[in-house]
Parts: sequence; structure tokens; C-alpha cells
Amino acid sequence: MRRLSQTQIRTWRTCPQKWKQVYLEGRREPPAPPLTFGSAVHSGLETFYRNRTAAPATPEEMLASFDDVLDRSAYDSDQAFERARDDGHAMLQAWYERHAPEFRPAMAVELALRYDIDDVPMISILDRVDLTATGRLRITDYKTGRFFLRDTARESQQLTLYQIAAEEKLERPVESLSLVHVPSDTEWEVPRRTAAEIDEVRRVVVDTANQIEQGAFEPRPGRHCEWCHVRPWCPAFADHYPENWPEQPDILQLSRDEVAELADALGQALSRKKQAEREIADLRDRLTSWFEVTGERAAAGSEFRIRATRSERDDDRVSWRLTPVELEPADEESRGEPV
Ligand code: SF4
Repeated sequence: MRRLSQTQIRTWRTCPQKWKQVYLEGRREPPAPPLTFGSAVHSGLETFYRNRTAAPATPEEMLASFDDVLDRSAYDSDQAFERARDDGHAMLQAWYERHAPEFRPAMAVELALRYDIDDVPMISILDRVDLTATGRLRITDYKTGRFFLRDTARESQQLTLYQIAAEEKLERPVESLSLVHVPSDTEWEVPRRTAAEIDEVRRVVVDTANQIEQGAFEPRPGRHCEWCHVRPWCPAFADHYPENWPEQPDILQLSRDEVAELADALGQALSRKKQAEREIADLRDRLTSWFEVTGERAAAGSEFRIRATRSERDDDRVSWRLTPVELEPADEESRGEPV
């Protein structure tokens, strides 16, 4: 079974066809400003907390990490890229000034955990894990989008998966889950998920994995199609991109039901052929035995006359050639194929 992530589960539940295009056909999202900006900010924060000593990384180190990741190709112009770079630097500088005085090294940053949910292999990458004063875990996830909803921390399926992953792999209970909106430096911390909330997410994971195994990749059109990067290859939008959808040969336009009928018909025909071959072999054996014993070389019925030709080969083996001739009402003969 394929290893799943929260992003894959969310993509499938939004649109199975999109999941297929991205994860089976390999049509990954091209570099886009929000994605590369988010990755670069994560990298800067990872550098800040990665330091195991009592001091965080310097602002210069954070900004260098940011610059290493920010992808110029995602931006339309040098100006847009420079603006994003300045915004990112300002954001990380502000983070340093506010959080350096209270710095404590994280237990782990950008921690990739592989685990199972009821036999479904999963992977989660946790932005930051801290050890609390009581020896429990506090998990933090960073958000860098422009808008952010307060309730997300209570409802985030991603945070629930993080709790499941961390408790299984780090073998400590989770105390709290936290979402941090980096642009506004705002944090929402909520208590650990309840058993019922965890069961619900487990059910969603298993249900999604089963649907993926069944492989029905139906397009699910909706508002999300407006910003879907695989739309040019989506069957629901084939009319909009005729260059990607050349006319299919007739044979490819058969429905599943028609293909099923063809399969049955071929199976039945082959089965009849096998039965006929057995009958031919039996009749041929009996007639050649009769020709052999009687010395006759023809046998006539009401519809066919069978002509027999006997030949002996160099190795003394005998072979018979039997040729059916169809009898016309006026007894006119026409030649048949040997059997
Ligand atoms: S365009 Fe819409 S229906 Fe098609 S794959 Fe994308 S999200 Fe799904």
C-alpha cells in the first residue's frame, strides 16, 4: 500500500482525479510564490531552532537559509522576487528579535516520522517539537499564508495526525498542539486531541486509503478547479484543452459494459471452439479406423461425402487426409477443406 501524507489525503478528498494527476502521473505543482515563500520561511525558522546550545542561530544564518530556498523561477519579475525576499527577511528578523530572548532549543525541527494507521503507511513532517516542563510534547506547525483562521487549530486534521505520529514514534504523550501564523507572529495553542477526535481522523485515513486502492479517479469539479494546476489534463475540462485530448480511436471509446460483453463473447467462442475440436478429433479417429479396416476411401451421408486419402511415410507411420465435400440437393459437389 502506498505511503500517504496529510497533503495526499486532503488532495484526494478534494478531487480524486487531481490526486491521480499529481501522485500517479507526476504532475507536481510548478513553483509558485506562496509555496516557495512558505518553504523559505520554514527553512529560516528551522535554522533558528536547530541550534542545540542555549543560543539560537544568528539573524544572518536565518536569512541565508531563507535565501537558499526562495526560488527565483516562481516569480514573474525581479521586482516581485526582491519584494518577497525583503518581506521574508523582515519577517525572520522580527521573529529573531521577539523570540531570541526567550530561546530554548527545540527537541526536533522538520522531523519526518513514518508510522502506520491501521496498516496504512503514513508520513508526517513536524515543523517543531518541544519538550514541556512535564516531559510531554508540544507540537508546533507554522503557517505563512496571508490569511489564517483562529478555529483552524481546533479542527486541523494535520495536527491530529502529528499527535498520532509523535506519540507512536517519540513514545511520549502530547500535551498541546500549536499553530503559528508567522506573518502576524500569532499563536493558537490547543490541548491534545481527544480519543474520539483521533478515531475520526483514523477513520478518514483508512477510508481514503481504501478508496485509493480501488482506483476510481473521478474528477470532482468545483470552485477549487479555478486554481487547479492539472486542469489541462483533467477529463472534466477536455473541451477546454483539445490539444491535450486528441481524438481517440473508436476502440478506446468503448464503455466498460461493452468491453465486458466483448470479453464474455470471446470466452464463449473459444470454449465452443475447444468443444468442436474435441468432436472433430473423435469423429476423425472413428472414420479413419473404419477406412483402415474396410479399405474403403469414401463415406457419404445425407449432406456430406468424406473422401479419404491414405499415405505412408518413410518411418512407416500412416497418415490420413479426410476431405469433406458438401452435397448439393442436385448432388452437385463442391470441394471442402481437409480435416
Ligand atoms: S480541474 Fe477540478 S475536477 Fe479536474 S482535476 Fe482539477 S480539481 Fe479535479
